Amino acid sequence: MLDKVLIANRGEIALRVLRACRELGIATVAVHSTADENAMHVRLADESVCIGPPPSAHSYLNIPAIVSACEITGAEAVHPGYGFLAENARFADILDEHGITFIGPSGEHIRTMGDKIEAKRTAMELGIPVVPGSDGAVDTVAEAHKVAEDMGYPVLIKASAGGGGRGMKLAASADEIDDAYNTARTESQAAFGDDAVYIEKYLGQPRHIEVQVLADGQGHAVHLAERDCSLQRRHQKVWEEALSPALNADQRAEIGGIVATAIAKLGYRGVGTVEFLYENGEFYFIEMNTRLQVEHPVTEMITGIDLVQEQIRVASGLPLNLTQDDISFAGHAIECRINAEDPETFTPSPGRVEAVHVPGGLGVRIDSAIYAGYSIPPYYDSLIGKLIVFGKTRNECLMRLRRALGEYVIEGVSTTIPLFQRLLAEPAIMDGRYDIHWLEKYLEDN
Ligand code: ADP
Repeated sequence: MLDKVLIANRGEIALRVLRACRELGIATVAVHSTADENAMHVRLADESVCIGPPPSAHSYLNIPAIVSACEITGAEAVHPGYGFLAENARFADILDEHGITFIGPSGEHIRTMGDKIEAKRTAMELGIPVVPGSDGAVDTVAEAHKVAEDMGYPVLIKASAGGGGRGMKLAASADEIDDAYNTARTESQAAFGDDAVYIEKYLGQPRHIEVQVLADGQGHAVHLAERDCSLQRRHQKVWEEALSPALNADQRAEIGGIVATAIAKLGYRGVGTVEFLYENGEFYFIEMNTRLQVEHPVTEMITGIDLVQEQIRVASGLPLNLTQDDISFAGHAIECRINAEDPETFTPSPGRVEAVHVPGGLGVRIDSAIYAGYSIPPYYDSLIGKLIVFGKTRNECLMRLRRALGEYVIEGVSTTIPLFQRLLAEPAIMDGRYDIHWLEKYLEDN
C-alpha cells in the first residue's frame, strides 16, 4: 500500500480524497494556488505546497510544479480527483517516467477513451452497444450531408475531443448541416486544439444512465450498478440518483455484466464510468470517463463501498478483493450539486460565505469544503458542495432530501438550493419520469 499521496486538486474532491487516505493510514500532501491559501483541503492535509498563481493553467494544471511538489515532499503517488489533470494522458505518462504512481488508469487507456471516435470504436469491438452514427470522423461537409441523409434527421455533430457539452451541435434538417458542422469544428478547434468531428443519431427522449466499474488491471472487473444523470442543464449534470428509476434488476445485471466483461478484457485499472443514453429499453454508449466522477457518492451510498479507497488499493498494485457476488445494491440515493450561482439565471456568485449550517441526521452526507468566513474565489468551478441523501426507498429518499434542503443554510452567496426545492414540487421528479431534456424545458417554462 502507498504511504504518501499528493492530491492534485482543490475543493470538495480534494477533501474527499484526503478522507479516504486518512482512513487508510496514508499521509497526504495538498497543493494549492495562491488563491487557495485558506482552503479547507490545505488546512486538513498533513503537508501543503503552493504551486502557482490563481489561474488553473499556472497552478492546478501546472505539471512541472506538481511533479516538483512530489519530489520535495516525497509523495509516491498522485490522486488527480476529477477535472484538471484527471484525464490528461500526458500527465499519467510523465508521472510514470518519474516513478510516481498515477491513481488512475494507464496513459494509454486515458488516451483511447479521451478520443470519442476511438472510444466508440473500442466500445463496439468490446461488445458494448453504441449510438448509431458515422463510421469514424467526418472530414467534409459533403460527407456530413451524406451520413445524415442515410441515417435520417435529426443528427448531432460531436467533437471527438469534446467534453462538458462543448463542440456539440444539433442539425434538425439538411438546411442546418453546414452551420452545425462548421460551428462544431471551429468550437472544437478553439476549445481542444483538435477539429475532428463525427455524427450521431440525435435521440429525442433518452435518459442518461451510466455504469460504474472498478477494475484491477489484472483482468478482474466488477460493476457497481448505474447512476441516472438525466437531469441536466446545458449537458451538465445537476442531480444524480442511484439506482435509476427506469431500470429493473434484470436490465441492470445485463448491462452491468456487458460493461464489466468489456472492461476486464481491456485490462483497465481503476474506477471508470461507461455512459449510455437509454431509450425504449435500449442502451447506446456515448463515452467513457476514466476517472472518479462528481456523482460517485450515490453509488457509495447504495453499495457501502468507498470508491476512492478501492482506487488507491488497485493503484497500489493490489488485486481486486471484491467479486460481483460480494456487491449488492440497497436503498436509494440522490445527489444535488450545490453551486455558488444564482438559482434562476445561473450566473456565478463568488464571494465571502458569511454563515453555513449543514443538514444532518440519518442518511444525509455533505461533501463540501466551504466554511463560515471562507471566500469562494472566482477562478474555478462554481460547485461548492454536494448534498447526498440515502433512503430505504426512493420515496423515503425524496422526503429526506426535502427535509435536508430545508435545513441547509449558506449565507453571503447565492446558491442553487432553491432550484432543488422547486424541483421537489414537480410530479415528474417525484415519479422519476424525466429524460435528458426535461430540466431545460422546465427552466424555459418556469
Ligand atoms: P460531453 O463529453 O461533452 O459531456 P457526451 O457525449 O458525454 O459529451 O454527452 C453529454 C450529453 O449530451 C449527454 O448526457 C446527453 O444529454 C447529450 N447527448 C450526447 N449525445 C447525444 C445524442 N446522440 N442524442 C441526444 N443527446 C445526446
